Amino acid sequence: MVVLYKKPMLLTLVKKPMLLTLVSILLLGLLSVSCLAELQRFQHSAKADGSLSFLVVGDWGRRGLCNQSEVALQMGIVGEKLDIDFVISTGDNFYDNGLNGVHDPAFHQSFTDIYTAPSLQKQWYNVLGNHDYRGNVEAQLSPILTKMDSRWLCLRSFILNAGPEIAEFFFVDTTPFVTKYFIDPEDHVYDWKGILPRKNYIKNLLMEVESALRESTAKWKIVVGHHTIKSAGHHGNTAELAIHLLPILQAYDVDLYINGHDHCLEHISSSSESGIQFLTSGGGSKAWGGDVNWWNPQEMKFYHDGQGFMSVQMTQTEVDIKFYDVFGNVLHKWSTSKQLSPAM
Ligand SMILES: [Zn+2]
Repeated sequence: MVVLYKKPMLLTLVKKPMLLTLVSILLLGLLSVSCLAELQRFQHSAKADGSLSFLVVGDWGRRGLCNQSEVALQMGIVGEKLDIDFVISTGDNFYDNGLNGVHDPAFHQSFTDIYTAPSLQKQWYNVLGNHDYRGNVEAQLSPILTKMDSRWLCLRSFILNAGPEIAEFFFVDTTPFVTKYFIDPEDHVYDWKGILPRKNYIKNLLMEVESALRESTAKWKIVVGHHTIKSAGHHGNTAELAIHLLPILQAYDVDLYINGHDHCLEHISSSSESGIQFLTSGGGSKAWGGDVNWWNPQEMKFYHDGQGFMSVQMTQTEVDIKFYDVFGNVLHKWSTSKQLSPAM
């Protein structure tokens, strides 16, 4: 607006068709800016010693059934031992069909009344899974749930800065990427309110994620989504994410991609595609025992077809990951480190 008033001379000098073109370019610019709302950002402070620890659980809400309560019990024990700062849920928070509204008793029966250990009374950062999209999505996003249980925070996509300067987490809404939910939903009804037109939604989301990754100065970059990019489990790879999201993660040196969806615990390390570690934590309740496909053993660091969860402990220079089964046994450990950048 200011520019238009500051330079009236320019406008009078420009011929009419050119003026129209200029105005339409300006309008298009304004429109694309307004569509590209930045992802909402949250901050979470690290501990006084500069470390951060959290648990990751996915595919859980079954009113305690299918060992959900047993996994929750072990999360409580490990959570206390590691003095966790928060919990991440990789989605499929409520089976089978999400929540039917903000007053659906499943919220208490599958969340509040299950994760009762003192160590789990921390902030939960949640994304949505495909089962959540089969219910009332806005209910899970509603601040009314946070009023009922202050741990609850669920957005479609958002950014969490932890530290500061330790890690940045990019939570990505992956369900709208999957074409089959749109063209062959079988007997399921998905709540696509706020998603359509789908092409624009995905395009804008990818642009937002890319721009946030480009600007990130965090030591560790961690992307969280419900769907797999690489997995030997029942669902396997998600082709749409491998095509559209993975190149962005590679271009901006993402360290970890963390997902659920396949009901297993899994670690794939793909050295050919930068250093991204693909971590599946989808063992929050029902598991699909024995349902595993072949994967190159050089890349497959760990696969467990039962229930469990994952922990991450990190500092500016170290990341330690552990996977636990339903009894709390550590089944797999992995660590990596980075040098601190030299002081300027
Ligand atoms: Zn799923």
